[in-house]
Amino acid sequence: MTANESSGHLFIVSAPSGAGKTTLCRALLRRFPDIRYSVSYTTRPPRNGEREGIDYRFISEEEFRQGIEQDRWAEWAKVHGHYYGTDAGILADAIGKGKDVLLDIDVQGACQLVERFPEAVTIFVMPPSIEALRSRLLARGADSREVIDRRMAAAEEEIRCRSRYRHVVVNDRLDRAMGELQALVERYR
Ligand code: 5GP
Repeated sequence: MTANESSGHLFIVSAPSGAGKTTLCRALLRRFPDIRYSVSYTTRPPRNGEREGIDYRFISEEEFRQGIEQDRWAEWAKVHGHYYGTDAGILADAIGKGKDVLLDIDVQGACQLVERFPEAVTIFVMPPSIEALRSRLLARGADSREVIDRRMAAAEEEIRCRSRYRHVVVNDRLDRAMGELQALVERYR
C-alpha cells in the first residue's frame, strides 16, 4: 500500500489527551467537508455520548488481535491499556480515490504510518502547559482520577516526541489554533 502523486493527503494529528485535539479535528472537518475522517477501531469501552461508527468502531480484544494476525491494521497501538488501530483496507480505499484523510492517532501509530506514507502531513497539537492539560481532563469529567494520572504521565512522554512531527500547533486559544491548523491544511491541498 503506497500513496502516489494523484492520491489524497494524509493529515495525521496527534496530541496528549485533553489538548483539545478532538475539538480541533471536528472544526477542521466542518471547514473542509470533503476531508474523510478515519474512524479508528478500539477495544476501549464507549464514553458517554460516543457513537459507534462515528467516533470509533468498538470491537472486542479478540477481534482486534485477529486483525493483528491478519495484517488488517495499517497501524495499531496499545494506548492507556486499550488497543487502537486503523483499518488498512479503508485507508487504502480513501487514498486510492484521491480523498484527503484526517487521522487522529497517537504517537506510536503516527510513526508507523509515516514509515508507510513518508509524505503524510504530521501535526502535533500541544497544550499551552501541563497544568492546563490536567485542568481540561478534570473539567471533561469523563475519566477517574487514576485514569487522569495515567494520561498525564503518558502526555509528558508524548510531548517529548513532538520533534518527530512536521508541524506543531500550540492550542493556547481555540480560535487561534484553529486558524493555524486550517491555514496549514490549505497549504497542502
Ligand atoms: P481516547 O481513548 O481518548 O479517544 O484516545 C486515546 C488515544 O488513542 C489518543 O491519543 C488517540 O489519538 C489515540 N488513537 C485513537 N485512534 C487511534 C488509532 O487508530 N491508532 C492509534 N495508534 N492511536 C489512536
